[in-house]
Amino acid sequence: MAQPVSVRIPALNKDISLPTGLFINNEFVPSVDSSETLECINPSNEEVIARVVAASPKDIDRAVAAARHAFNTTWGKNCNGFQRSRLMNKLADLIERDAQELAELETLNNGKPVKVARDFDIGDSIQCIRYYAGWADKITGQTIEIEGTVKTAFTRHEPIGVCGQIIPWNYPINMMSWKIAPALATGCVIVLKPSEITPLSALKIAELVVEAGFPPGVVNIVPSLGPVGGAALAAHPDVDKVAFTGSTVTGRKIMEAAAKSNLKKVSLELGGKSPQLIFESADLDQAANWAALGICYNSGQDCTAGSRVYVQDSVYDKFMEILVSKVKATSFGDGFDDAVAGGPVVSKTQYDRVWSYIESGKAEGAKLVLGGEKRPGKGFFVDPTIFAEIRPDMKIVKEEIFGPVLSVGRFKTEEEGIKIANETTYGLGAGLHSNDASQCMRVSALLEAGSVWVNQYNLLSNNVPFGGKKQSGIGRELGSYALEEYTSVKAVHWNIGEKLE
Ligand code: NAD
Repeated sequence: MAQPVSVRIPALNKDISLPTGLFINNEFVPSVDSSETLECINPSNEEVIARVVAASPKDIDRAVAAARHAFNTTWGKNCNGFQRSRLMNKLADLIERDAQELAELETLNNGKPVKVARDFDIGDSIQCIRYYAGWADKITGQTIEIEGTVKTAFTRHEPIGVCGQIIPWNYPINMMSWKIAPALATGCVIVLKPSEITPLSALKIAELVVEAGFPPGVVNIVPSLGPVGGAALAAHPDVDKVAFTGSTVTGRKIMEAAAKSNLKKVSLELGGKSPQLIFESADLDQAANWAALGICYNSGQDCTAGSRVYVQDSVYDKFMEILVSKVKATSFGDGFDDAVAGGPVVSKTQYDRVWSYIESGKAEGAKLVLGGEKRPGKGFFVDPTIFAEIRPDMKIVKEEIFGPVLSVGRFKTEEEGIKIANETTYGLGAGLHSNDASQCMRVSALLEAGSVWVNQYNLLSNNVPFGGKKQSGIGRELGSYALEEYTSVKAVHWNIGEKLE
């Protein structure tokens, strides 16, 4: 089975052809040895959208071999930065041309609102690919003076080679762009495994990879179950680097597989339990807007979701009143309804997981301030839920929920606020809201997170690095920093005139 299927795109009111095979060597192919398929569900109505081929370990071998061949022949050292840049810009143009179609596909498979998928996920992805296309012809080393005129040295920033890239379901197109763009810019080749839950948009973009003119084997896309295709990629002896976004539990497995196989380079973007501190000098209305966005955006399925909010005692009651009214006004529904701000959570598994946390919050004695009631009917909808009067030992305070469930606590002093914000094994994002500039500087320096937002939350830019401290990850995506993840530095030592006696 690798035939395209027809999928109805509701807003454009047309049927599109959707590839269902594994994308290897610029072709959609069946598995070499398996008949397994992945069932893709619309989380708003629980209906099956399509089934796609699931890659087996042998298919991963085949994709890696295709990538290696491309690296040694048409890409890598054999394709200069100007050519890579041109192809990447072409791909960005094609994604822009098809933005509405891709956005609707994303909504069907992930549930998020179409306008969010189109204007944010896809808009940002186009910009990301263009940003790295700009880097492709600017990847340079250094010339290093040693011993005056008789010897010199220089460095070459060489593409690392075959990159396995494993991405999650919360931002399928966006995560794909963050991964493929720096890899292509540096001259690497790719075997990308989308999430088994949301592989459809990646396969549709594969068609655009061909249309843009990329040589076969440069980009390969292999939907598969994590413990099958993902594990095979992480353990593959001919994969030079694995880049992963997903849970911390899986991140550990990836690192272990890399260590046990060929010590491939690893970058990990993992989970978080990100705090936001609301100080008494803050513009409370604005702070409440950012706090609401922090937990409601993408229905809370965000690695930097601001899932813990701590408010200074003196403004606690006032802030809570504003926050609750703003979160209450955030409506979740079918992503094809233009009035909704958020969709369902992505799957039945995720729905059950989020509800188990809501139940545990109730059982452990947190005060339910908003939400916490199941909706009748179809769809994996979870309305925004707020717990207050929390304790640090509660599961809802310690663990990543990945749903629209917010825990709110309080603090008296700046010192105490920083201490409770940092009381987590994670270190991905953190926010602070204050109108005292000195306080903003002090606190942003002391928060243990890879990104700190001051008087805003969760906004990213393609030219600013992103990644985690502590158990939230290793390495950085975005900005010039991501280029380091995909290059290896070679030092060339050159004897210009020294004679060995
Ligand atoms: P996950 O870590 O299981 O999956 C992420 C990706 O890793 C998927 O492509 C999956 O197929 C793959 N994978 C799973 N097991 C693997 C293995 N043994 N070897 C290699 N690859 C493997 O995450 P999930 O099941 O999709 O979600 C579970 C939790 O992970 C969520 O509730 C959330 O807490 C977290 N999560 C975090 C992010 C993030 O951006 N940080 C994204 C998605 C999920």
